[in-house]
Amino acid sequence: MTTRPGSVTSVGVDLGVKRLLVAAPNSAGPDVKGGLVAGGEVERGLYNALSDTLDRLDDRPEDTHEAEQLAIEQCRAMLNQQFALAAASLVEYAEQQDADIVVLEDLTFTSGTLTECARGATEAAEWVLPAFREKAESVLRARGFQVERVTAEKTTQECHVCGQLAQVGKATIRCETEHCPVSRVCRDHSAAVSIAKRVF
Ligand SMILES: [Zn+2]
Repeated sequence: MTTRPGSVTSVGVDLGVKRLLVAAPNSAGPDVKGGLVAGGEVERGLYNALSDTLDRLDDRPEDTHEAEQLAIEQCRAMLNQQFALAAASLVEYAEQQDADIVVLEDLTFTSGTLTECARGATEAAEWVLPAFREKAESVLRARGFQVERVTAEKTTQECHVCGQLAQVGKATIRCETEHCPVSRVCRDHSAAVSIAKRVF
């Protein structure tokens, strides 16, 4: 890329199943105040509830095809609604930040259809994250943002200010670099900033 940090603002998005997205700009300070957190619990709950429903229907002796289709379509509609809400808050946040570029992780997912995944051994994250990413990217592009994907390698361990690998806790990282202003910071927020910076 030929863009220079300083002249262009990017917003990085860390995707996860606990919190669907955490977003923060490349210019965020050591404590990453004012990041956006959206979604997670509802999407995970909808997906897991569908898995349970399909399991229960499979155990019934009668023909449950119609009930299955109904459960799948209801779940899909509710998930799409949640994705649209989360994507809308991301667009709003990116506009507030005056962002030119929104950066997501280039994670490789091996995802199938909602039905295959919910029926099989696929964890919620494997279906929810790529499906949401696709929705978010299309909404962002439609609103005129440049959307990029960067390698996700070590974004979780890296300190977003000095770039050194930090001590990783359950929800936070602790940077031990001398003179680095980051002491302890939320892991997902730090990752979002690292992702935002990676596009330059
Ligand atoms: Zn640091």
